[in-house]
Order: sequence, then C-alpha cells, then structure tokens
Amino acid sequence: MNDAAPNAAPQTFYLKDYKPFGYEVESVKLTFQLSPNATKVHSAIRFTPKADAEDNRFFLHGEQLSLISAKIDGTPVTARLVDGGLECDVPRTSFLWEAEVEIDPAANTALEGLYMSNGMYCTQCEAEGFRKITYYPDRPDVMSTFTVRIEGDEPVMLSNGNPTGAGEGWAEWHDPWPKPAYLFALVAGDLVNHPGSFTTKSGKDVELNIWVRPGDEGKCAFGMEALKKSMKWDEDVYGLEYDLDLFNIVAVDDFNMGAMENKGLNIFNSSCVLASPETSTDANFERIEAIIAHEYFHNWTGNRITCRDWFQLCLKEGLTVFRDAQFTADMRSEPVKRIEDVIALRARQFPEDGGPLAHPPRPEEFQEINNFYTATVYEKGAEVIGMLKRLVGDDNYYKALNLYFERHDGQACTIEDWLKVFEDATGRDLSQFKLWYSQAGTPRVKVTEDYADGTYTLTFEQSTPPTPGQPEKAPRVIPMAVGLLSPNGDEVRGTQVLELTEAKQSFTFDGLASKPVPSILREFSAPVILERETTNSERAFLLAHDTDPFNRWEAGNALAKEVRVAMVLDGAAPDAAYLDALEKLVRDDEQDPAFRALVLSPPSQSDIAQTLHERGHTPDPQKIYDASETFTQTLAQQLETSLPRLYAATTVEGPYVPDADGAGKRALNSRILSLLTRLDGGEQAARQYASADNMTQQYAALAALMKAEKGEAQSKAFFEQWQDDRLVMDKWFALQIACAAPETTAATAKELTQHPLFSMKNPNRFRAVMGALAGNHAGFHHASGAGYQLLAENLIALDSVNPQTTARMCAAFQTWKRYDSKRQAQIQAELERILATSGLSRDTHEMVSRMLSA
Ligand SMILES: [Zn+2]
Repeated sequence: MNDAAPNAAPQTFYLKDYKPFGYEVESVKLTFQLSPNATKVHSAIRFTPKADAEDNRFFLHGEQLSLISAKIDGTPVTARLVDGGLECDVPRTSFLWEAEVEIDPAANTALEGLYMSNGMYCTQCEAEGFRKITYYPDRPDVMSTFTVRIEGDEPVMLSNGNPTGAGEGWAEWHDPWPKPAYLFALVAGDLVNHPGSFTTKSGKDVELNIWVRPGDEGKCAFGMEALKKSMKWDEDVYGLEYDLDLFNIVAVDDFNMGAMENKGLNIFNSSCVLASPETSTDANFERIEAIIAHEYFHNWTGNRITCRDWFQLCLKEGLTVFRDAQFTADMRSEPVKRIEDVIALRARQFPEDGGPLAHPPRPEEFQEINNFYTATVYEKGAEVIGMLKRLVGDDNYYKALNLYFERHDGQACTIEDWLKVFEDATGRDLSQFKLWYSQAGTPRVKVTEDYADGTYTLTFEQSTPPTPGQPEKAPRVIPMAVGLLSPNGDEVRGTQVLELTEAKQSFTFDGLASKPVPSILREFSAPVILERETTNSERAFLLAHDTDPFNRWEAGNALAKEVRVAMVLDGAAPDAAYLDALEKLVRDDEQDPAFRALVLSPPSQSDIAQTLHERGHTPDPQKIYDASETFTQTLAQQLETSLPRLYAATTVEGPYVPDADGAGKRALNSRILSLLTRLDGGEQAARQYASADNMTQQYAALAALMKAEKGEAQSKAFFEQWQDDRLVMDKWFALQIACAAPETTAATAKELTQHPLFSMKNPNRFRAVMGALAGNHAGFHHASGAGYQLLAENLIALDSVNPQTTARMCAAFQTWKRYDSKRQAQIQAELERILATSGLSRDTHEMVSRMLSA
C-alpha cells in the first residue's frame, strides 16, 4: 500500500497556521469486527461545537478507508469524500456521529494504522495513523476518552486502559484518561504473557504483563525488571505514579520504530524488549532497559501532558529522552552514559544539523511529519533540556517540572508553555534561550586564552553556520562548564558554569600561581563544536589528569582524531606519544574497564570524514579506512606482549549477568580480543567462540574473526545455530556487511538481499542489511559507486511497501556534499533516480527533495 502522491510537491504544513479544532470530542466508542482483509470499524463519537465553531460543516481525517455508512443522531447522512478525509454538514448543537468503515489490515505493509504481523493484529497510530482506522479529527490537541469493543476469534484481544468485560469472541476496554488518537492501540492474536506486579507509592496494585508470541516467554524477565525499576524511579525522582490498574507491553516483529507509548498498552519492536543472555548482547540489554523506561516515562511526559500539534514533538520526545538518560545514568554509570550519548549525538545529530536535512528541534514546516522523528527532535531536544537544567540548577529544575505537571496535566501543550513554567518557577527570562528551539545548526565556539600576572582569561566567540532557510543566526545562551588544572595536574578551580550570551565574551580567573590548563565544556555541557588551538601534549595531559571523566575521554578522543587526520593528510605514521599514552591507560588495572574500552574504541571513520570536512578538506573514504587499519595494526603490535595478560585479566568468569560492571569488563575484553586476533591468526577468538555461553562473547569472537577474514566456519555455524531466531539473524546479516572490506561491501550486501531470509516487509531485517551498508563508511562510499546504487535500488523497491522506513533510510545520503565531485555526481544521480520513481510516497519525496535542493 502506498500514499497516493503525484510527483509534484505535496502540501506543506506550517506552525504559524495553527487553529484549534472547532468541536469538543466528549467520548469515543469504537467496535472492531476483526477480519484479515475486511475488518469493520464502527465509531460512535459525541461532538459538541465550541462557542467559536465557524460554521455547521466539519472535516474528519481519513485515508484508505471504505466508508459503508454515516449517521448523525441516528439519521443517515451524506458525507463528501475529499482529499485526506470527509466533510459533512452538522448541527450547531451536541450530536452523535456514527460511521462504519472497512479496512484491509493484511494488505497494510506500511505498518501504520491497523496491520497484521505474523498473523497478529497490531496498530501504530503516531503520528497520523489513526486516520487509517476510522474518520476522526486526527490531531494531538483533540483529546477524549475511548471505549473499545473487539470482536474476533483471537485468543487475546487488548486495547488501552482497563478491561471492562470479555466473553467468547469479544473483549471490551475503557480508558478513563482523555487522550489524543495517536495513543490509541489495539492488539489481537495468539499471545502468551509474562506477568508481574507493582505497588505504587500510594499503595495501588498494578498488574503488569509482557505479551509475546508462544516460544518467546523465556525472553521477558529482563524487560519486566526494567519496567518495575522505571516505575519506581519515576516515583522517586519525579514523584510521578502510574494511573491505571494495568500496564501491558506487547512485542511485535514488524514495527517501523523502536516502541510506542500507547496509553496502558505499549507496543514494542521485539528487538527492543525480548532479551536473553544466549541471544542478546550487553548493548542490547542496555538499550532494552532504556527503551522500556522511555516508553513508560511517556505516560506523564507525552500522554498525560501531550503536544498541541506535531511541530511540538520535541516537547514530549526531548524531555522523555532526557529522563531516560537520567534513569540509565542512575542504573549504570553516569560518565559512561554521557560519553555514549555524545558519541551518538555526533554520529547522528551533528551530520543532520550540518547538512541539507538541518531543522530546529521545533521545526516550523513539514510535508510529512513522519520525517521529523529525527536525532534533532529527540537527542538535541534532550540536550536543550540538559542545558536548561544546568542553567537553573537542580532544585529549580524539579520545581519547574512540578509546576509543569500541576499546571498542564490533561492538556496539549507547546514549547512556550514549557518555557513559561521555568520562567515562573525561577523568575528567569528565557527569551534568548528559546532560540535553541527555533534555530537549526550546531554552534561553533572558538576559544582563545591569555595569562598575565596571575590572571587567566578565556575568550569565547560563537557562530552558527547557515542552514536551509536560516542564513543568519543570533547568539544563543550557551552554558559552558569549565575547570582549571595546574601544570602538575591538581585542580585549581573546580567546575563552574560560564554563561555565554554574546557573540564574543571573556571571563577572567584571578589569583593563579601559574598559567593553568583549562578543561572546557565539561560533561559536554552544551551541544556545540569547540574550536581551540591546542597541542597533543596538552590533550595527553588532560587524558591523564582531568577530574571530569567526560573531558578525560574527550581529550583521548580528540587525540585519536588528530592522529588519524595527520595520517590521512600527510601519510604520517601513528603518533608514538599517543600510542604510549594509550598503552599506559589500557594496562592500568586501576582504571574503570568501561572507560578503558571507550578510550580504546576508535573514532568512527564517518567522524573523521566530518572532521576533515569541517576543516576544509575533502575526505577520501579509502584513505580514512587505510589510516584506521594501519593505526589499529600498529596499536596491536605495540601492545603485543601485554595482550594475552590483558585478555585473561578482563575475561568475566561465572554465569553471565547483564549488569554495568560485567558489561564494562566484557567491552574491554572484546576490544582486546579484536587486537589479539590481528596477531594470533584468530586462535584465541576461535576458542572463545567455541566456549561462549552468552551472545556478547559469541558475537565479539565472531566479529573479530570475520574482520580478520578468518570466520567462515564460525559464520556458518552461527547461521545453523540461530536461523530460526529473527533477532539473532539480524545480527548475522549486519555483521557480514560491517566486516567486509571496502571493495566487497556492496557485493556482500547485494548477495544478502537475495538470501531467502531477507525481507522487504520486515523493517528490522531491511535495516540490518541496508543500515549496515550505509554504516560501512569506506564500503558505502567506495569509488565504484556500487554502494550508492545498491541502496537507491532497494529504497525504490521498499518505497511501495513501506514509505516511512524508506524515507528514514534515505538520510544515509545526507552527508553527500562532504565528498569529492565524482562521488557527489554519483549520489546526485541516485537521488534523482529515486525522485523520478512513479508513485513515490510523500515521505520519500520530501526527504529526497530536501537533500537535492540544498
Ligand atoms: Zn518517545
């Protein structure tokens, strides 16, 4: 199924055009008669005109619906079907609207609205999927209570809220909390539950369930514990309690997103909830814990207080990402979580902010809202909240949040409402801070220093490069956390937050005995690019001495980048002083293993390309790849004598436990193993593969072997062992492409698209293959253009099946202007080929047009 869209530019929606809906929706009653190809949906909705309702005609959204009948107060009426919905004449007083429609869930491969996944009925309504279920004012500021009756022969039939009755072939649900239609959910199928329970702080017992396909019951225990921890944490930290008698989570194999926070009935991509030591890695466990928390936290930040319109998406997403990051920091390690988040921000959000798809956290226009579920809205949206908290302080932050929940519970809100609670709680003027929500682009902050007579001066100059539609930018409020170290490594000034508000600004520190070494942007206190002339020896000093763990890592990371940039540009040998510093740190058993693993993880090749681009060079992907290989090989040789001892010392004995300590040790152990494999011909990795009793170690061994081109037998064995497990098979597909050499990457990916287990209909599998292709930097950007061609072909094929996933994966091309003219021409040709496809979806059309027009 496809959104019927001509190749002409579709309609654009603007924030400035917002108008409230003219009617209150008092109540919604839905009856579903389930049938794979012909589900009937009967709706009974009570509308009451608002005082300012313009006329006696209203519009309801609806797409891909067959209208069977429509009635007002029991009398049949004629509705006019128009583009995107229907219009109807209505009374000026309260009335009952009834409609019956037929839909085809089995044919719905777009996975939006009501669809089927492996014989199970499932919904996804955010952002605008409810209009594919029935005619309705499908906008987040229309909130109502829902009563749902499901008729069918499925053993389990679920909807939002609390169950109110069930019998042979039917089930009824009622959700007492008014909600927008995007939070509606229905699930029906042959499911089994992993039960649990939670008692809230006010003593209410809540029944918890994770529903899965028979056979997956053994993979729910970790998710259930994560849910209980999340419920407890939100009570302890934010004072927020759960508000229904029941909380259900359902795992679904075919799902466009990670998970969805439908009221009382969260629906999860099975990859984001199912976990067992045998099938999941440490990274999977951490992600599952975070996503379960994220969706649960939405119950307040998203559901009880929702968004007025989709331009405000970051109101719920930025805040909820920020809250789930706080949760993970509390459950695991705060510095490690911060470092991981900054790595992800630089890998996903910075390229978006610096390219043709740049948009502010609150965009002001869109054609297809599904294209704005972006790293900018989510991750930068969370960074903006982190800055706000840093500026007002912890106490004021929670004071403002309490006011937010008190003032806006049950409402659909805007960024203005959000900032107003901070202004009212703290008396602070946030008009300049608000620019973070309206300006796109990553600010650059240039730092210079001066020292004379015991006074040290730091001068900051901020600027933001032009982004589409925004040539000029005003200075923003930037919280800059700074500490000073003496030359012997003591901290002479603890962390202090300097507030940058002007284009150029200086700050002085008096009474210093000697010129200090500054530690700037501690904890990554603002999402900016810091530009400062410094030396590798100063970076090495900070790597050894900084008291801020983030900046210690950052110093090492900057060093790693400088060394690689020099290797790429000048053909330099890997810097000996840096290799020595790395060796010292890796061998220092006093240091946290997770931290050592992070320092040992090389900056991504895409990150090096971005750095070169920012400095005015044209990145050569093959040269970046070669430098990376040379560096790692040299490091392995330098560490040669220590590697066997380090490997033994970091091997975790005893039964596998997916906790932060074990995960940190295993992360370091895996890095050591990959270095060792370069020297021992794969002996140790083969032993580890053969004896591993958990996926983290099995996968690490397989990856090390495949990278060294010594893993053929293990890859076969892995396939034999796991071919019936869809999630493990996703790893197998992705790993082969991730480990391929640049010249064989596209061919490897192409071969895998012909594998019997490859499917266009399963977004996880498609992403495993095409995401791995786009993620193999040197392979995707190989001079032959084969990578570009293969991705474009597959996106064109996927578009008619699943426009949302197609459009999102198009972003793989967003950095195209970084590269040389030949590569640019190759990519441009592929983008034009996609755009010329007849019947291209609105989603993909918008993404490709934006990339081409920049
Ligand atoms: Zn979310």
